[in-house]
Amino acid sequence: MSATLLQDYFERIAYLLRSETRLAGIHLDLHPIQMSALHYLLRCNRYSNTPQGVTDYFGLTKGTVSQTLKALEGKGLIRRSPDKQDGRKVHLHVTAEGKKLLQRSIPAPAVVGAWAGLPNAEQDQLVEVLRKILQAMQFMNELKPFGLCRSCRYNTQLGEGEFFCELTRENLSETDVTLICREFQAPSLSERDLPPPL
Ligand code: SF4
Repeated sequence: MSATLLQDYFERIAYLLRSETRLAGIHLDLHPIQMSALHYLLRCNRYSNTPQGVTDYFGLTKGTVSQTLKALEGKGLIRRSPDKQDGRKVHLHVTAEGKKLLQRSIPAPAVVGAWAGLPNAEQDQLVEVLRKILQAMQFMNELKPFGLCRSCRYNTQLGEGEFFCELTRENLSETDVTLICREFQAPSLSERDLPPPL
């Protein structure tokens, strides 16, 4: 299989997903990027639920992010709250309405169907391969990895359901560690995990 074929598959899948996402938000006149930003805000932690976090995650301009957030806020799908330590910073939270919309639409029915059609072993292999490809692409593009807190090198388990972030020096709950974080660092990012130079 060539890299071109891989890109063909990714592009086709991305197109189909965009199309399903657009349909899910059409009754609220939401664009796919607005639905994706809403989904990101539901899955990210308190260090990442900021306009800058959305900008970094999607690689968008600040202007586009500002318009996206304004649209979500205007439709009552997110709300803002000031940061307790830094008054210039705001955090973005998905409202009950926003959560209902996401529950109805993500994962897209076609993704659920395709996933259910794979044997368990293939599901595990697929996730691992995609994780590696994403990690390598983010490294090559010098993008933040935005990984799951639970598998971050800064995450230390203190006890049953108690975790600690060595970077921010704050305690983390069981829910916190299931979220994605813009400060995530892979525990074993090494030359081994990367593809050979082109
Ligand atoms: S342990 Fe890592 S992923 Fe979790 S909050 Fe700290 S920096 Fe973020």
